[in-house]
Amino acid sequence: MSKEIKRPLSNKERINLPHQIMPLRQAWERVNNFAEVPLGYSDEQAVAEAQRCLQCRKPHCVEACPVGIDIPGFIKLIEQGDPAAAASKIRETNFLPAACGRVCPQDKQCQAVCVVGRKNLPVGIGSLERYAADYEREHHTLTPPAIAPSTGKRVAIIGSGPAGLSAAYELRVKGHEVVVFEAFHRAGGVMVYGIPRFRLPLEIIDEDIAYLESLGVQFVYNMVIGNILTLDDLLEQEGFDAVFIGTGAGLPNMLTIPGTNANGVYSANEYLTRINLMEADKFPEYSTPLFQGKKVAVIGAGNTAMDVLRTAKRLGSEVTCYYRRSENEAPARSEELEHAKEEFINWRWLSNPVEFIVDENNFVKQIKCEKMVLSEPDESGRRSPQPTGEFFVEDCDTVVMSLGCSVNPIIPSTDKEVRINKWGVIMVDVETCQTSKKGVFAGGDAITGGSTVILAMGQAKTAAAAIDKYLRGELREDPRVPTDPNFYVKDWQLNNGHAKNGKQKKVTA
Ligand SMILES: Cc1cc2nc3c(=O)[nH]c(=O)nc-3n(C[C@H](O)[C@H](O)[C@H](O)COP(=O)(O)OP(=O)(O)OC[C@H]3O[C@@H](n4cnc5c(N)ncnc54)[C@H](O)[C@@H]3O)c2cc1C
Ligand code: SF4
Repeated sequence: MSKEIKRPLSNKERINLPHQIMPLRQAWERVNNFAEVPLGYSDEQAVAEAQRCLQCRKPHCVEACPVGIDIPGFIKLIEQGDPAAAASKIRETNFLPAACGRVCPQDKQCQAVCVVGRKNLPVGIGSLERYAADYEREHHTLTPPAIAPSTGKRVAIIGSGPAGLSAAYELRVKGHEVVVFEAFHRAGGVMVYGIPRFRLPLEIIDEDIAYLESLGVQFVYNMVIGNILTLDDLLEQEGFDAVFIGTGAGLPNMLTIPGTNANGVYSANEYLTRINLMEADKFPEYSTPLFQGKKVAVIGAGNTAMDVLRTAKRLGSEVTCYYRRSENEAPARSEELEHAKEEFINWRWLSNPVEFIVDENNFVKQIKCEKMVLSEPDESGRRSPQPTGEFFVEDCDTVVMSLGCSVNPIIPSTDKEVRINKWGVIMVDVETCQTSKKGVFAGGDAITGGSTVILAMGQAKTAAAAIDKYLRGELREDPRVPTDPNFYVKDWQLNNGHAKNGKQKKVTA
């Protein structure tokens, strides 16, 4: 690739350069398979997009990134024709660049505050991150970090989602022995069991796991901490000096309406896990079955709902989304909603399910909904759905509820020293991610409820830095863990303000 830039561009010229649109597979083609939908930038597109960055002296984009990536720094390197160096720059603060370049909600974080966005479309930071990370993968340019001399300390990481993996990386680089305990037979958390292949190919996560293993991190699979070993077992019998809990929020919220327990009614987590992790769509080649519905009703309109809708479509079903608010209030990222809309999904906005009607064998056969209208905006500007008393019924043979998730309860329920709030979220000292149990730290969805990959990683980095201090005897002894059971992490400003635009919200469907 040429490293020549013809002449310096003025800021005015940069602002007026057109945004480079990443090519996508055509909808009619992509609904037939699980191949990745966006195809990535070409070298020329990446340089052209990088030229749009003004290299701000006080870059708001960096402040809005939960892990503080040097965004202008890596974009400059792409502009100079050096994507390998750009990838190294991203890796200084982000251990999962290929995943984050694909799934981070940049439109709500770094790109939302990009100054170019005031006059034109913001710089495509996520697409450029993906480009650099893919270049590194395809050209094998990754240089492993220097591992500090062994400290002789051992850390147990519970859960191998983005929080657990980031904590493992940070702690291993600092010279600690790290063992990751994972309940499933495969590492990656939601990135492998929730997010479908057409958004995040499995091999990307597998490469990240292999990389961690090459650095000396050990993985123990099929190990449910809390059931098989407790926190005390890890600290007292197994010889660990500290523990990080990154067990996520995998407990699905369900509607409590007639028919919820019928055959054919799934939570989004179960539906996606069966397909993504257990390969149920290939039954009987793989042992987990999945009832292959002809008409699938998906309840909710968040990112997870978009994943379910698009997955069910790829399995050949007719798919309909039911949501009690209007499209304007749909919590899904605009890009995910657009992709789903292109893929021949049916939409029932302002439709609140009130019953799943079953046949004589208790299989769901229809969905009954009440039509809703939106109220005037309240003080917060939010319009709430109001019932109209009008109902409609439609046929379906599968229902998938995608109504958010709560924190996995196994560990707090088996160790009462780990304090939780009234929603079951693990309480931590926000500056150190220490829990109320000595030597135990937590991060990711376990301390926020369902959130994002990058926020989970940001908290894991905070926790890892504190664990390192703890192991060196440099951490304060009195963690400030909230005691008010109503305290919710959404009120906190995590990561010293880095998460300004990704502030946690409790998921409401
Ligand atoms: C379908 C879906 C799509 C999503 N899409 C996006 C997206 O596009 N962009 C984005 O940023 N975020 C997305 N998210 C949210 C994001 O994936 C999560 O916020 C993130 O994965 C949280 O990371 P985590 O490490 O805290 O937990 P998780 O990723 O949930 O990982 C937790 C891990 O802990 C394991 N575990 C749980 N309990 C135990 C135990 N007792 N012992 C051992 N192991 C245990 C679990 O098996 C799991 O592997 C999505 C979520 C879902 C469900
Ligand atoms: S805010 Fe936009 S223009 Fe400024 S450095 Fe960040 S990406 Fe570049």
